Amino acid sequence: ATSTIAFIGLGNMGNPMAKNLLKAGCKVRVFDINTDAAKQVESEGAHLCLSLDDVIQGADTVITMLPAGEHVRAVYLGDHHGGVGLLNMVAGGTFLIDSSTIDPESARLVAGEAEKKGFEFVDAPVSGGVAGAQAGTLTFIVGGTDSAFSKAEGVLQHVGKNIFHAGKAGDGQMAKICNNLLLGVLMSGTCEAISLGIDNGLDPEVLSNIMLQSSGRNWALELYNPCPNVMEKVPSSNNYQPGFMAKLMLKDLGLGIDAALQSQSAIPMGTLARNLYAFHNTRGNELRDFSSLFEFYRDKK
Ligand code: NAD
Repeated sequence: ATSTIAFIGLGNMGNPMAKNLLKAGCKVRVFDINTDAAKQVESEGAHLCLSLDDVIQGADTVITMLPAGEHVRAVYLGDHHGGVGLLNMVAGGTFLIDSSTIDPESARLVAGEAEKKGFEFVDAPVSGGVAGAQAGTLTFIVGGTDSAFSKAEGVLQHVGKNIFHAGKAGDGQMAKICNNLLLGVLMSGTCEAISLGIDNGLDPEVLSNIMLQSSGRNWALELYNPCPNVMEKVPSSNNYQPGFMAKLMLKDLGLGIDAALQSQSAIPMGTLARNLYAFHNTRGNELRDFSSLFEFYRDKK
């Protein structure tokens, strides 16, 4: 039978993900508190809904793609203003997938509450950026039971290429947080190396090509060069339009710090990257792509 998916959160990532579910033949109902965001997938065949109540009608699966833990808790558990959460609204047997990147505690809290009510829930954050979402090549990092994982695979294969089972509830988030700590460090380092080269007379494109075939090779350099006009179709060549907003990278590096405090781990590189983003964001860059950190190195004022 055709799956009916309630998709909640149609931002930079949710939008292309919902479109790929439609292409795969799923029925997709969409809701976003920003109706304009949801409207962008209506023209592709999604059913536009104006409330949580409406979006879950007839749905067998819910996918949420929201900014942070507070939004995920509000949507599933209800907000503090008496709003009812999804767990008190959806029909028995509805399968629940949260693909936002959030703190593992919130993911475990929602998973636990879902279990009490007899629902299967997985945390399934993604990696691959907007380009990966558009191409349907996202990596999904799933936390949950074995049976919930295999159910999740059936749905997520339409939007992703690699689907990993990181472990129990919340472990998908923990693995994603480790990945993004590394990404924050790699993006900072890539900005720094290219900027050093420019300051010393090198052409950024030539330098990038050299490093791509050398030991400095990494994802930022390969797919997301932060220096304008080195690569086509990346945010740096499009006035740093997101993409992945700098405020979301700051959130993820903060989640890395929270985790390190819990485990008493040393994360000097991640902490430095987090502080670079904190400085960068206070200069009005929160809503720009995270690769705009390059300008932090180039600003000679
Ligand atoms: P975004 O801000 O573009 O989209 C989030 C959407 O959620 C917005 O449209 C917002 O209006 C909506 N929303 C917020 N609260 C809501 C609520 N209560 N009910 C309904 N809708 C609500 O963010 P994004 O870039 O799409 O990222 C979403 C998540 O995915 C974040 O956790 C982010 O860290 C993660 N992520 C992003 C990327 C990327 O490259 N952009 C890559 C991997 C992971």
